Amino acid sequence: MTDFAGKTGLIVGVANKRSIAWAIAQATASRGARLALTYQGRFEENVQELSVGLPHPPLVLPCDVCSDDEIAAVFRRVEEEFGGLDFLLHGAAFARREELAAPFVETTREGFRLAMDISAYSLIAMARGAAPLMETRGGGSIVTLTYLGSERVFPNYNVMGVAKAALEANVRYLAADLGPKNIRVNAVSAGPIKTISAMGIGGFSSILGVYRDRAPLRRNVDTTEVGEAAAFLLSDASRGITGDVLMVDAGFHVTGI
Ligand code: NAD
Repeated sequence: MTDFAGKTGLIVGVANKRSIAWAIAQATASRGARLALTYQGRFEENVQELSVGLPHPPLVLPCDVCSDDEIAAVFRRVEEEFGGLDFLLHGAAFARREELAAPFVETTREGFRLAMDISAYSLIAMARGAAPLMETRGGGSIVTLTYLGSERVFPNYNVMGVAKAALEANVRYLAADLGPKNIRVNAVSAGPIKTISAMGIGGFSSILGVYRDRAPLRRNVDTTEVGEAAAFLLSDASRGITGDVLMVDAGFHVTGI
């Protein structure tokens, strides 16, 4: 049921081999999906190099999610190449280091705007581009990546927690909007994993340690585990699920003290 033979997908958010989006690209491509991968400027070389390792050569396209023109260009190329789209993985997020290091009350207007634009609004813009291409396939699945910092306070997560709360609300509103077109929208909430983005969060290693000590599975998760869960949500196996947040965090979210 998680077979992706004949399916096409767009993966946004690969920066390097540690990126969660890369694990999702591998999980879907190894099951037969044909992919388009987008990169943010400075990561072009990494993404080109990684793409060679996929079973079907992917389309590799630039996309800064702050740019409506670049987003439109991506969907034009995807339509030309694939004629439609079955799934979209949104894995872009950003907050300035200053906003993550300073006390939350010092969050600047510009830092708030930027984190929200890249980490939350971009899901709406990408979903709007994907929807017509998914309609030509009779429906589709959109998945984004979130973190428990949307609901609970984690040290130094700050404005990113607020952006993730908005992102999860976006998931619900988009699910309601696009559901009648048989387009599903869900999120995977991953436990902490050492990636480029995570390294911007002060004290990240101690968060990994707390999860190891307290999560029911007494360990951290890795990107392949998040990749498999996301592949499930992107596949027909999850066709009855929309508007949801699937926790892939070794169970940490159920703990009290
Ligand atoms: P990552 O740094 O590998 O990926 C983040 C991606 O966002 C990068 O590919 C980067 O190029 C992209 N990005 C940032 N600004 C962009 C822009 N303007 N336009 C286009 N792309 C842009 O790190 P990751 O941990 O794999 O992050 C992927 C997603 O997973 C993020 O949404 C992150 O918040 C989420 N997440 C990460 C963790 C973790 O602990 N690593 C936990 C839960 C959720």
